[in-house]
Amino acid sequence: MQVPLSQPDITQREIDAVVDVLHSNTLSIGPRLVEFENKCAAIAGRRHGIGVSSGTAGLHACMLAAGIKPGDEVITTPFSFVASTNCILYVGAKPVFVDIDTRTLNMDPRLVESAITPRTKAIVAVETFGHPGGMIELEQIARRNELILIEDCCEGFGGSAGDRPIGNFGRAGVFAFYPNKQITTGEGGMIVTDDDRFADVCRALRNQGREGMAWLAHQRLGYNYRMSEIQAAIGAVQCDRLPEILENRRRVARMYMQRLMDNRYLILPTLGEQDHMSWFVFVVRLNDLFGPMDRDEIIRGLRASGIGCSNYFPPIHLQPYMVEQFGYQPGMFPRTEYVSARTIALPFFSRMTELQVDRVVTTLNDQLEKTLIVRKPRL
Ligand SMILES: *Cc1c(COP(=O)(O)O)cnc(C)c1O
Repeated sequence: MQVPLSQPDITQREIDAVVDVLHSNTLSIGPRLVEFENKCAAIAGRRHGIGVSSGTAGLHACMLAAGIKPGDEVITTPFSFVASTNCILYVGAKPVFVDIDTRTLNMDPRLVESAITPRTKAIVAVETFGHPGGMIELEQIARRNELILIEDCCEGFGGSAGDRPIGNFGRAGVFAFYPNKQITTGEGGMIVTDDDRFADVCRALRNQGREGMAWLAHQRLGYNYRMSEIQAAIGAVQCDRLPEILENRRRVARMYMQRLMDNRYLILPTLGEQDHMSWFVFVVRLNDLFGPMDRDEIIRGLRASGIGCSNYFPPIHLQPYMVEQFGYQPGMFPRTEYVSARTIALPFFSRMTELQVDRVVTTLNDQLEKTLIVRKPRL
């Protein structure tokens, strides 16, 4: 692959921090974790950060700490990475999907209240592709209906909605640090919350149900969702470098925007005036001239030319295990299905060069023309 889909931004500083940990003899439960937790909490404007082994683990812990149980319903988006729905399934609750706003690609707040039933306990709201759109409204809806809002902000580290940072909404937010995210720890996640009790429960859940001092006293069923000192040390340096990383990602997004703005075949990401996007990926959408088969053809063509790309995201409700368990069918969430069939995630990472962006854009334009000529001879 000549231009990869994503690439972590690791410098000598992260490497030195890891080496320091390895010399320290404290490889888990130590000072780096506390340091990284405090940095993430500050970035999200929260009192607590709880480092965990992955974003998915963090979401699972939040579902448990929120007391979500079998028989409960949790409202969420079908247009996301599957982990935002899987965490609901882990605790035996039922995900109730709400279709998206095609401008933000997030759950449409206007459709949420009609999905609420007496069994609804919570909302898992996702900033898909890092877009903060709708979060302020969703928080108001949750408050009005006495629902627990959990923010899956795994794609939004460092962004903001209005004057509030992403991660600041609802009972708790969860960040993720897989290598394609804005900042990485290899694997890792972070719960952020202002709620002291919620934080204590999450700390216990990640550490085998331990609360308090005794190593072999387990107050509750817990898990090993701990984050190592090695991961936390990388994360702390990445936090310090966040302004530089985000600025570089904005630079790449701007280069794409300038080059694709006038492309009449594409719909580009749009932002509200109050929104500050932390760019996670750069996803373009094909317009009405194209169908799903065209999209897949274009992705194949791009890959064959050495351009990394992907179909972020297939609708969650149409994943085989979801269809099997809940009987979801095509047509149930038409906006999600429409958008999802036409998205292409292009290569996107902080160190992308202008040359690489140019190469992606040229190859994409060639593929668009080629696809239209083959499939729509009249045009
Ligand atoms: C990446 C991601 C997660 C989970 O992250 P992992 O660290 O890979 O478990 C959850 N939700 C969304 C929306 C994500 O993009």
